[in-house]
Amino acid sequence: MKKYFYLVLLLLPLQCTFAQQVENIFIVKDSETKSVSAWQREGIVYVSLAEFAEVLSINYYENPSTGKVELKSNYFLLKTTPRNPYIIVTPRSTGEPKVYQLPTSTYWKNDETLIPIQFTLDALEIILEQELKFESPNKLIFGKKISSPLADKEWMYDVPDLPPTTGYDITGITITEKVNGTLIRVHSKKRIPSYFSSLEDDELTIILRKVNADIERTNRGEISNLIQEIDTRNVGTDVEFKFKVGSNYSTSEVMNVPESNDVIITIHNKVFSKSDQNKKNMEKWEFDVVVIDAGHGGKDPGAIGIDNVKEKDITLGIALKLGNIIKKDMPDVKVVYTRHNDTFIDLYKRGKIANENSGKLFISIHCNSTKKKPSDASGAEVYLLRPGRTEEAIEIAETENSVIKYEENPQRYEKLTDENFILVSMAHSAYMKYSEKFAELLHKDFDLNLKMKSRGVKQAGFYVLVGASMPSVLIETGFISNKEDAKFLNSSTGQNQIAESIFSAIKAYRKYYEDAMEAEM
Ligand SMILES: [Zn+2]
Repeated sequence: MKKYFYLVLLLLPLQCTFAQQVENIFIVKDSETKSVSAWQREGIVYVSLAEFAEVLSINYYENPSTGKVELKSNYFLLKTTPRNPYIIVTPRSTGEPKVYQLPTSTYWKNDETLIPIQFTLDALEIILEQELKFESPNKLIFGKKISSPLADKEWMYDVPDLPPTTGYDITGITITEKVNGTLIRVHSKKRIPSYFSSLEDDELTIILRKVNADIERTNRGEISNLIQEIDTRNVGTDVEFKFKVGSNYSTSEVMNVPESNDVIITIHNKVFSKSDQNKKNMEKWEFDVVVIDAGHGGKDPGAIGIDNVKEKDITLGIALKLGNIIKKDMPDVKVVYTRHNDTFIDLYKRGKIANENSGKLFISIHCNSTKKKPSDASGAEVYLLRPGRTEEAIEIAETENSVIKYEENPQRYEKLTDENFILVSMAHSAYMKYSEKFAELLHKDFDLNLKMKSRGVKQAGFYVLVGASMPSVLIETGFISNKEDAKFLNSSTGQNQIAESIFSAIKAYRKYYEDAMEAEM
């Protein structure tokens, strides 16, 4: 569901800020096709919830004065309010409302509540007790029946509708449990200037600087398997959050929420979930497919370096050499290329190829370049998908991302703003630890075995990495704007050395991965 959700998100064109009527959405249920009107706003597609219910003969009630819409199924009620990001789902059996938070609010147009359909699918699946999937941007398919609609869903605990608090900066927290982790939004009235985190003995400490908290509203017990307890204290001029984390803890991250004083703390699960204990699932995770992505190709030459060397030729050369080494020395691992000749492949398709082949590692190969040629900058860099921390890294990502100009539908890519990064990061969170490990092994190997210097592991927002649901890195193998790097990268010896280095990192990584899998299962 999640993987698909991102593809749909990426496929939606970005346009103006007013809702515009677009092509109807076709809904296929029990081999019957129906359609509902659709609107689009800031790249997000909306449908009228009432019309949706009407068309599908779902029992519903619409309050004409408030615009609230309530859907009623046999076992659940689903309530929406106009211009509100919360959807409330209440199981009739318990009567206990669960709040579901959308990344964006519902919309109000022509006296109707419009819901951002792709973000509402999970909640709708619960009340309809059936899988919902977009087959194409405007074709929604009802899939198989869901027997346990409450399992493995994203719930938010505790909407902060507490009475106003005075004298504190931090006024509460909301917790959303996601499939691959937990998201904690810290509500702050004041900008939090900086934060630190550390982990010791199953206790994750996060310090938010120069704010104070109403700790009665931030302390919680018994949250999930992942977080057993949150203990907050005001220490000097700072706030200290201590999370007691369970054995399923993997990594965590703190981020400022754009255009808000809030911060979001994401705490991630391990990749191999405890529920995956049967053999079939073990097989599912086996290290059996490596996806090699030669950057650029066809009409997109990539960077042009000294003596007119083209990035696309070098990346393909390294990719094919690496593939051959894997085939020869790791014959039980299948090699999948996103391209194996000089063709142009859209960035989003590269991730799609990787996912469709159940890749366990995605390696995107590129070359760096500077505007000035020749220049002194030289050496290899390894990149992870995360908000860029340095101007240089952001610039490199922008250069690599700019190739979408060669694509037919470049609007499909959502701009990687901080807010989108929170979503992307959540989707990638489970793999981040593994991506980091591979990046580190690669950097070490480059450092040890390449003549060229290794400039280390960096991070930025590369579209090509967003689409791949697996541990992934992007390698800038060297600067083709530098005389020596260009000569090295354009030579068979140089390309072989780099391929050998990547392969030796893959070998070390595979061992780490398999040990981790054994330990975690
Ligand atoms: Zn490139």
